[in-house]
Amino acid sequence: MVVIAVDGPSGSGKSSVSKSVAARLGLAYLDTGAMYRAATLWCTRRQVDLAAADDVAAAVRAMPLTMGLDPAGPTVTLDGEDVAAAIRTTEVSTAVSAVATNLEVRDELRRRQRAVIAAESAPDGFSGGRGVVAEGRDITTVVAPDADARILLTASEEARLRRRSLEVHGAADASAVEATRDQVLRRDRDDSAVSQFHVAADGVVTVDSSELDFDQTVDAVLAAVGQAAEA
Ligand code: C5P
Repeated sequence: MVVIAVDGPSGSGKSSVSKSVAARLGLAYLDTGAMYRAATLWCTRRQVDLAAADDVAAAVRAMPLTMGLDPAGPTVTLDGEDVAAAIRTTEVSTAVSAVATNLEVRDELRRRQRAVIAAESAPDGFSGGRGVVAEGRDITTVVAPDADARILLTASEEARLRRRSLEVHGAADASAVEATRDQVLRRDRDDSAVSQFHVAADGVVTVDSSELDFDQTVDAVLAAVGQAAEA
């Protein structure tokens, strides 16, 4: 089986690009950011104080979360409920770093991520044993350092703000971009306390998408995957 790990800052396009790469290669797709978002939703719904690190960690360890790995329609099911939309609200986006910087939470979610990735080597996994594209913060360095291809997808701050603004507000004029600034830049700054995703670690290939459109970015990532396979 093949494991492709994709990391990068907010707005680099890593989710949509990873999904497309997985679909093109017939692989499963794992959105690890969605797992941190689900953990945040789970804790806030249960009124766990996000500053109480041990309580948050205990709640996350008991979280009944199932990740659907189809790149054409990935699902996030929390206690039997489809929470794909609920984990994308501004409330969750604003609170997620507090949960994601909890080291015990990271241990637990990394353990689950490794289990999902390992299960894709089995013939009864989603991909039928073909493999998985796993995407998110410390995937290339901590969760899957032995992945067959490890890619850091970057883009200039300006390009990332513009994309996220279009995605969230449907516009990229000055005020929409300003409203997006906290989500993109502040979140990355908070997240960088526990994971490094602006500079490629050894053996990680950087793809800069600032000047590329979506299809060109997918092609560049596929080329990087091909390159890694030859190395
Ligand atoms: O990628 P997405 O924006 O959905 O990620 C949401 C948050 O989850 C990130 O801001 C980060 O705090 C956290 N995260 C993480 N490690 C990952 C994936 C996401 O800490 N592997």
